[in-house]
Amino acid sequence: MRRALWLLILCALAVGLAWGLMRLGGAVEVRVADMEIVLSLPVLLILLVTLFLVLHLLIVGFRSLVNWPARLRARRAARRRNHGEMMLTRALVSLAAGSADAARSEVKRARQLLGDTPQLLLLTAEAERMAGREEAAAEAFQALAKREDARFIGLRGLLRQAMQRQDWPAAQALAKEAEAAHPGATWLREERALLAQRTQDWREALALASPATPRAPLALAAAGKEADAARAAELEKQAFQADPAFAPAALAHAARLAAAGNARRAKGVLEQGWAAAPHPQLAAAYLEGEAEPLARVKAAEALVHRNRTHAESRLLLARAALGAGLTGRARTELDALVASGEADARAYLLLVELEQAEQGDTTLARAAEARWLRAATTAKPEPRWRCGQCGKVHAAWAPVCDGCGTAGRVAWG
Ligand SMILES: [Zn+2]
Repeated sequence: MRRALWLLILCALAVGLAWGLMRLGGAVEVRVADMEIVLSLPVLLILLVTLFLVLHLLIVGFRSLVNWPARLRARRAARRRNHGEMMLTRALVSLAAGSADAARSEVKRARQLLGDTPQLLLLTAEAERMAGREEAAAEAFQALAKREDARFIGLRGLLRQAMQRQDWPAAQALAKEAEAAHPGATWLREERALLAQRTQDWREALALASPATPRAPLALAAAGKEADAARAAELEKQAFQADPAFAPAALAHAARLAAAGNARRAKGVLEQGWAAAPHPQLAAAYLEGEAEPLARVKAAEALVHRNRTHAESRLLLARAALGAGLTGRARTELDALVASGEADARAYLLLVELEQAEQGDTTLARAAEARWLRAATTAKPEPRWRCGQCGKVHAAWAPVCDGCGTAGRVAWG
């Protein structure tokens, strides 16, 4: 609207100017040799304007002719780009649908049209992996890793492949390169932690552990691999402080203290461990030096006093009491344990022993024993250190299962 107004004003001005000049009249004389041309002013103006227009059109036409090949090329490139992007979208759809072969041919076509862009190289790698062609995928990842702008993506893919084929030295080298390419990436930190676990580099695993990862097993595993006794002791202490309920850490820390002559502090550690999570191995370590049966009962009482009604506490007290001939005391504990519903096979087997100790070889005792043995077979079994992966039972906790080689799966239960 504003433009139309301006045009109108411009036209009015031009008409006004032409009318003014007409009224003024006047002529221009052009003399060349003997020839003389006289032009009136309006005619001259019209001629000049016409000349200007013709020149302008000539220049525009010439420029358009010169630019024509470039325009043609640009149009063709745009067509290729559109086609390429269409292929890329189709490849994405095929990948999402799990059609590996279709995705491969579409990505290939898109690469022909668009060139080796980082996105297309990544898609190529994904399509090749989906088709099970790991080597072709590795080539695409390597091409990515060579580019400055997509180095991390390439290394990430190569690292994933190395981890998958369990080539730990290659994976470690790639992780180092990836860390240099993109320091502090969360994903990489997790992968490096996993890698450290796989290669049993526990110190590294501990250093890279996320806040959600239990630190005590890692610190204890690191202590187990540490050649220097002082550093191993420090790691064991760290493991115990990280989780006093993790019995192997309490055991190791207490053993280290006892070996250094700090028997009282060692017992304190075991008591603290028992208070956090009672475990039969803590009791075994605590009562190790006590040979005299009544002294064992007293020691057992000292150990469990902060966690008196726990099933393991009752079981320990019952066993110590039975050992010292305190059958009444043992029965009180075992009855309470059975009544709590937490009794496992050990409690019932102890009751069998108790019947024998109390009544000897009588008909009544044999009937009671048979009853407890039946209960023992249906009760939950004794807890053990067991691999969560393959189910192998271990005598003590181990950072890696020696049955299946899985790290971090041996647990109490
Ligand atoms: Zn296993």
